[in-house]
Amino acid sequence: MKVKKIMVIGAGQMGSGIAQVCAQAGYELVLNDVKDKHLERGLEVIQRNLSRQVEKGRMTEREKEEVLGRIVRSTDLQDAKEVELVIEAAVENMEVKRQIFAQLDDFAPDHAILASNTSSLPITEIAAATNRPEQVIGMHFMNPVPVMKLVEIIRGLATADEVYKTIEQITHTLGKVPVEVNDFPGFVSNRILMPMINEAVYTLYEGVATKEAIDEVMKLGMNHPMGPLTLADFIGLDTCLYIMEILHDGFGDDKYRPCPLLRKYVKAGWLGRKSGRGFYRYE
Ligand code: NAD
Repeated sequence: MKVKKIMVIGAGQMGSGIAQVCAQAGYELVLNDVKDKHLERGLEVIQRNLSRQVEKGRMTEREKEEVLGRIVRSTDLQDAKEVELVIEAAVENMEVKRQIFAQLDDFAPDHAILASNTSSLPITEIAAATNRPEQVIGMHFMNPVPVMKLVEIIRGLATADEVYKTIEQITHTLGKVPVEVNDFPGFVSNRILMPMINEAVYTLYEGVATKEAIDEVMKLGMNHPMGPLTLADFIGLDTCLYIMEILHDGFGDDKYRPCPLLRKYVKAGWLGRKSGRGFYRYE
C-alpha cells in the first residue's frame, strides 16, 4: 500500500518527534491532540529542532518552511478519514488507547493501518478494541525521536504480514532501522533495559556501592554511554516503576519485582530529571 498521509496522535515528547521525522521524510502529516495548547507546544518543539538544523547548515530556511507546511493541526479524530496510517503516541494508559483505537476504527478508511508507539502495553489488547486487528501494529520509536535510529516493530497476535512489510518499508523511508519483535511484555527493549535498571537500584538499596560507583562501573566497564541510575533519572522513575510492574504482572514472575527503593522514590515525588530530583539532584 502507498502511504502519503499520516496522522500522529499526541503532540507530546514522542508525538512531536514522530511528526517531525514523518514531515521531513515528505509525508503529509496531521498532528492531533486533545487541546490546541498541546499542539502549540508540540509545534514549537518541532520548529526549534528544525531551526537548529538550519543553523548547523543541514537544512535551508526554505526546506524548513516546506516541512512545517506539510503539518496540519487537528483536535478532532474524525480527521483520520483521509489518512492511510495513524501513529498513536498519546499517554501510556490502556483505557485511553483502546478508546482512541475504537474511534479510529470508525473514522479511518478501511485500508488504513493503525500503529501505536506504546512502550509497554500489549498491542494485541489495543488491537482487540478494533474490528481490524490484522491492521494494528506497534511502532516503538526511541527518545529523542529525531536522533535515535531504532524503531521496534511489534507484531500483535493478528497483525498481517503485508501490514508488517508496509510499516517496515515506511520506517526505512524515515531514515530509521526497523527491528521485528513479537508482542510480549516490554517487547525486547524494555524487557532487557528495565530489569537492568531495577537491578542497579537493588545494588544501591543493598549498599553494594554508591550511586556514583554503580554508574561508573557500567559506564567504564560495559561501555554504556551513561550509568543505569543516571539513565533511570532521565527516563523518569515513575515510568521505570510502571514498566517493571507491567513485566511483573505480565510474566507473573518475581524476578521482575520492582525494587522497594524505586517505589519509595516515586512515592516521595523524586521522579528524576523532570522533578528536579531522583537518584541525583538537578538544577
Ligand atoms: P507526553 O505526555 O509527552 O505526550 C502525550 C500527549 O498525548 C500529550 O500532549 C497529551 O495531551 C496527548 N493526549 C492524551 N490523550 C489524548 C487523546 N485522547 N487524544 C489525543 N492526544 C492525547 O508523553 P510521551 O512521552 O510523548 O509518550 C507518548 C507515548 O509514547 C506513550 O505511550 C509512551 O509510553 C510512549 N513512549 C514514550 C517514550 C519516552 O521516552 N517518553 C519512549 C517510547 C515510547
